[in-house]
Amino acid sequence: MTSQQLYEQYTAQMRKIADVKYAQAVLQWDQETYLPSGGAAARGQQMATLSEIAHQLFADEKLGVLLQELSGADELTEKQQRNVALTLEDYQKNKRYTPVFVRELAEVTSRCYHTWIEARKQNDFRVFESSLGELIRLKKEEARVLEFEQHPYDALLNEFEKGATVAWLDTLFDELQQPLKQLLSAIMKCPQPDDRFLKQHFDKDSQWRFGLEMLKQIGFDFEAGRQDLSPHPFTTSFNTGDVRVTTRIDEHDFTSMTWSCLHEGGHALYEQGLPSDQYGLPLGEYCSLGIHESQSRFWENCIGRDQAFIEYNIPLITRFFPQLKEVGAKPLFGAVNKVQPSLVRTEADELTYHFHVMIRYSLEKKLIEGSLDVKDIPSFWNEAYKNLLGVDVPDDRKGCLQDIHWSHGSFGYFPTYSLGSLYAAQFFTAVQKQTPGLAQQIARGDYSAVHLWLKTNVYQYGRTYTSNELCNKITGEPLQLKYFLQYLTDKYKAVYHF
Ligand SMILES: [Zn+2]
Repeated sequence: MTSQQLYEQYTAQMRKIADVKYAQAVLQWDQETYLPSGGAAARGQQMATLSEIAHQLFADEKLGVLLQELSGADELTEKQQRNVALTLEDYQKNKRYTPVFVRELAEVTSRCYHTWIEARKQNDFRVFESSLGELIRLKKEEARVLEFEQHPYDALLNEFEKGATVAWLDTLFDELQQPLKQLLSAIMKCPQPDDRFLKQHFDKDSQWRFGLEMLKQIGFDFEAGRQDLSPHPFTTSFNTGDVRVTTRIDEHDFTSMTWSCLHEGGHALYEQGLPSDQYGLPLGEYCSLGIHESQSRFWENCIGRDQAFIEYNIPLITRFFPQLKEVGAKPLFGAVNKVQPSLVRTEADELTYHFHVMIRYSLEKKLIEGSLDVKDIPSFWNEAYKNLLGVDVPDDRKGCLQDIHWSHGSFGYFPTYSLGSLYAAQFFTAVQKQTPGLAQQIARGDYSAVHLWLKTNVYQYGRTYTSNELCNKITGEPLQLKYFLQYLTDKYKAVYHF
């Protein structure tokens, strides 16, 4: 058999696995949007079955043999070779998990999720403590199974951001913390922008229609996706021709839905822009979670919270929301960029947000290396919030129980949120440098140059490069803090005039 024939066999098998995975994703999307409560139990079972089938298909010995054969073949194109190499890497990693471990992890994770819900209800971390302890024990085991060179947390980080290490992140966060503190203290000496006008009543239907306008404006393709409502906004993709976003509407806060649409819209543009001919293969998948998040923050913050964007959209905003008629672009720009240390990560501004991430990062690292006991999480948390954000945590619900991630077993995920902001700022600087007249185009609501840049530099590569390789390739240097710090300083000087 020729190498191309073998490659076709490989592609067919990978597409079959993708079909099963995406069918499961449709069920998951439905569960979070429309599923009646009576269907919940059966749905859980249906999704578990599909996920098991996908797992079995990918663990097939024959696929392993095929991949070995292909990785030695030299008549493959560069892209084909890359697909094979990445799949072989995934395949070997997958093989490290014994079925006993996979089952135990699934059971403990499911228990953890339910005790987290219960602990939140009772507002008491102790309800969550023992099942979380079990999960952390398994995560340490997972790090050992996956292997690491320096720190066990590196192995978990790699699941979300290939190549990221504790050594690298420690330096990055250390260097980020001081300038952010200085910027915050300069801001806190200035009068705060008035944002009371954001907290009046905003009609649900108008918000929904305005959200669709926002998606349309940034280039979301409604022939290749749709928007629905869900309690927690998210983006999911079944192929480049069907990408779903969700939003939520708070009738007393106009900002929540608007900027969540831009955020999820940014994620969706990435998914719609991936190469469709690579369906089911690594080059058809996103690069890393950090890069995915860079795409959402690019549209939500770099574009969406910029003065030019707000000025351009003021006529549209006042058409949908006449109650904002007297406000004007400048005060709206100030209000949506207000900085205020707070308790809840998802409500944080672009600056203090990173303190939330740093706290979770240092906490997770300690848990995985074994230098912090699970029972000491609340006291560690509360002390860190006092030190870094200067806020008193009133209870566990507003403290260490606020995020869902640990109950899903997602240790190593949080740093990718900060990486997303950093990559976004560096990419935004690059696209501005490489596109003369971009500011004027954006001021006219014309994003065609931005779309072209993202397509050529980010979307088309899929998983070809790691995040840092990609950053190097398209901006000429590895990730640098200076771009994000400059971006924040410029923005807050315009808001606070310090
Ligand atoms: Zn996101």
